[in-house]
Amino acid sequence: MIDHDVIIVGGGLAGSRAALEIVRTNPSLSIAVVAKTHPIRSHSVAAQGGMAASLKNVDDTDSWEAHAFDTVKGSDYLADQDAVAILTQEAPDVVIDLEHMGVLFSRLADGRIAQRAFGGHSHNRTCYAADKTGHAILHELICNLMKYGVKIYEEWYVMRLILEDGQAKGVVMYHLLSGHIEVVRAKAVMFATGGYGRVYNTTSNDYASTGDGLAMTAMAGLPLEDMEFVQFHPTGLYPVGVLISEAVRGEGAYLINSDGDRFMANYAPSRMELAPRDITSRAIVSEVRAGRGVKPDGSPGGPYVYLDLRHMGKEKIMSRVPFCWEEAHRLVGVDAVTEPMPVRPTVHYCMGGIPVNTDGRVRASADELVDGFFAAGETSCVSVHGANRLGSNSLLECVVYGRRTGASIAKFVQGRKAPDLNADHYITEAQAQIQGLFNQSGQYRIHEIRQAYQDCMTEHCGVFRTDEVMQAGLLQLRELQQKYSQIRLDDRGTSWNTELIEALELRSLFVVGEMILFSAINRKESRGSHFREDYQQRDDAAFLKHTLAYYSAAGIDINYLPVVINQFEPQERKY
Ligand SMILES: Cc1cc2nc3c(=O)[nH]c(=O)nc-3n(C[C@H](O)[C@H](O)[C@H](O)COP(=O)(O)OP(=O)(O)OC[C@H]3O[C@@H](n4cnc5c(N)ncnc54)[C@H](O)[C@@H]3O)c2cc1C
Repeated sequence: MIDHDVIIVGGGLAGSRAALEIVRTNPSLSIAVVAKTHPIRSHSVAAQGGMAASLKNVDDTDSWEAHAFDTVKGSDYLADQDAVAILTQEAPDVVIDLEHMGVLFSRLADGRIAQRAFGGHSHNRTCYAADKTGHAILHELICNLMKYGVKIYEEWYVMRLILEDGQAKGVVMYHLLSGHIEVVRAKAVMFATGGYGRVYNTTSNDYASTGDGLAMTAMAGLPLEDMEFVQFHPTGLYPVGVLISEAVRGEGAYLINSDGDRFMANYAPSRMELAPRDITSRAIVSEVRAGRGVKPDGSPGGPYVYLDLRHMGKEKIMSRVPFCWEEAHRLVGVDAVTEPMPVRPTVHYCMGGIPVNTDGRVRASADELVDGFFAAGETSCVSVHGANRLGSNSLLECVVYGRRTGASIAKFVQGRKAPDLNADHYITEAQAQIQGLFNQSGQYRIHEIRQAYQDCMTEHCGVFRTDEVMQAGLLQLRELQQKYSQIRLDDRGTSWNTELIEALELRSLFVVGEMILFSAINRKESRGSHFREDYQQRDDAAFLKHTLAYYSAAGIDINYLPVVINQFEPQERKY
């Protein structure tokens, strides 16, 4: 058994920012970060467009209150307003702190940090490093962890959260290189395991975004919050699904249909291409459904629309969004200086997650906290995004709540003893689980089941939803789950057994998908990213509350958590 004061699962922005705060607060603590990838390959590194903060460098009429209002309105009033106030008040400070660490933000001519427009934000407040913002920030954070001597376990897969009598005591992890299984015991456990884009067949997320942290939390008997809210980003490059950042529209690009019309005029006339993502994604799907999508030969009736940058000119494209130009050129052979890019919505972000309070402490229920368990970043739900996240608020959440959670962990572990724990029991169970997978002599390969599962989720729980379609999805998902015990692994070795990891990840995907579908069936209204064709209106009387879903082998139970409304009264959401 390995002992640390604190074990953080996840080396993305949220996990690394938390680790840094703990070591800065108390350098004598033993802190470890574990990641199934190398930490700088965490999905955070792919973040493009930027991070919001009312620095007022470009627009001096901005304020934290305006940022808070935009965020709450964007969330369709489901965000907790105390958490949003913290997010927006602390934003300028965390950006300056990152700059002092060495993050190279793009600049204005006078040397101050530049700020661009972003969807749903009423002022130019998104700070950026060209269209490689996540790369710039994550590299700096990981360098800092090395400088401070934080222990990093890279390429270890965490298989299980150890939770006994309402207390988190550690994790069980598997070493990809050697096949070795270890128990890590800690006074505080933090999950910063990112999102679950791989639940769907078209996503902007990396291959590692399989929702492991969510699944482990659910399987430990703890609730997940608001899982029905899945963000579809409007501009995934067709057909691959990789992201074309909202920064491209922030810098002035148009969305056009097969008639050449800027169709957003019919959906969000005041904000056009910079409407929030839920509205823009529905608009694109509606255009495609109405036959105004484009086919690969340029004729109408196809599956995508165009993102048109041509009027921006080569110099602006190459200086502000060079990476997006390169993506389209490399992946689909489109030169955006002279041709429009083919785009359609792609699964991008998980608004729900592990319920936490504003100190990052995980909730066991609406009014109890778990002892010693913390979470931040995309895997958590604090909830600052409610039913729909605004672009550039997620990196901000990772840094603000990563920092706060780190500070709260540093305080929490002070004077605490290491928990009692029978490591052998957990190692034996983990070995048996892996051996069980090796022993299966089934007829299915992992990729077949995973593809069928991703197609099922995409078809049955997408941008538009109905009870009938989702119920059919749930049935199909349960049939596919039965097949999990009939998958066959060809690799039964101990070194770099990526097939085994894919089998473990597939289990996570199943748990997460079932939670998403079940929560979505239960919410009989339309709010933010969750649009029900059979319940098209928002229903504040019945559903202005957070879903808490509890997983068990027997089925899922739904409970609720009230929404904190202390600054902005819910209104009709129009743009
Ligand atoms: C292409 C793209 C562009 C984006 N652009 C922006 C943007 O411009 N602005 C913005 O605000 N947001 C953006 N986002 C969203 C934002 O980047 C993410 O929400 C955020 O970076 C998530 O950070 P995180 O620390 O929570 O998790 P991640 O960065 O996803 O890190 C998760 C970590 O957990 C580890 N992990 C997971 N499971 C296990 C396990 N079982 N065992 C061990 N380790 C595990 C992984 O190895 C990884 O280290 C973008 C997202 C994408 C996909």
